[in-house]
Amino acid sequence: MKLLEDRIRKDGVVKPGNILKVDSFLNHQMDVELFNKMGEEFKRLYADAPITKILTIEASGIGIACIAAQHFHVPVVFAKKSQSVNLDGEMYTAKIESFTHKRTYDVIVAKKFISPDDHILIIDDFLANGCACLGLIDIIRSAGATVEGVGIAVEKGFQKGGELIRKQGIRVESLAIIERMDDVTGEITFRS
Ligand code: 5GP
Repeated sequence: MKLLEDRIRKDGVVKPGNILKVDSFLNHQMDVELFNKMGEEFKRLYADAPITKILTIEASGIGIACIAAQHFHVPVVFAKKSQSVNLDGEMYTAKIESFTHKRTYDVIVAKKFISPDDHILIIDDFLANGCACLGLIDIIRSAGATVEGVGIAVEKGFQKGGELIRKQGIRVESLAIIERMDDVTGEITFRS
């Protein structure tokens, strides 16, 4: 999506350790008009899919998912990060290794919010090694629901997440895919 690529080129900052900082428009301060265009694009890409719910993960996925949901007219559920997992059987849980914080945490979704007849679109801000998405896929499968696909704002194509998920036969649509980025020159190359 050219609009997003242009914005990343203009305002994205490449940090050491393969981190792209986009906090001026995507995951701290949020450009809601840009989110709206992104939501429109996700809807165009998944127009043929019978989506009943969007699933994301707190915190940075929530804004993008909510604006996208206005185009799909479906609810958003977000997986909550939890220190102490409630093991009373009312929650689906998955372990996720954070790429940015380098630690593992549990995420939980209440069972009552995903049912076997749901067709779910996962939305997140970044796809790096795929841990967050794979955790969400796990939760959807535990519920017996259908993964319709994954919608990502920024995929770092040089990391393994996209390949891992696509290899499972799951559709992944990323609005911008970074082929490489250089933390010295700040140069960012997108996959065409
Ligand atoms: P993964 O689980 O795919 O390795 O990483 C995805 C999560 O890590 C995203 O939800 C995002 O919050 C965070 N993340 C991964 N790479 C980056 C990055 O380059 N920049 C920022 N800001 N967040 C990232």
